[in-house]
Amino acid sequence: MTVDPPEFDPELDGHTSAVIGNVCHAIISEYDESGHSYSATECGVRLEDSLFSNDRVQKSGPKHDFTDDADIEMCDDCWPEDVI
Ligand SMILES: [Zn+2]
Repeated sequence: MTVDPPEFDPELDGHTSAVIGNVCHAIISEYDESGHSYSATECGVRLEDSLFSNDRVQKSGPKHDFTDDADIEMCDDCWPEDVI
């Protein structure tokens, strides 16, 4: 049985995001060759273990939590400019 990861929809304001190094990335689910699922950023950074127990992740939550935060940049590769 194969499971398709949910489509990434950058328009979705509540899309799961993670702040890594003060940059906000979109988080997607990926599957490796053996069918093991893992979290990754849309721009291609694989996160080991769970998103929520990863020491590189400073914060995580819906994107709209971070868009107004002056200390946090939005990743150009994860979020199309017209969305930001
Ligand atoms: Zn990114």
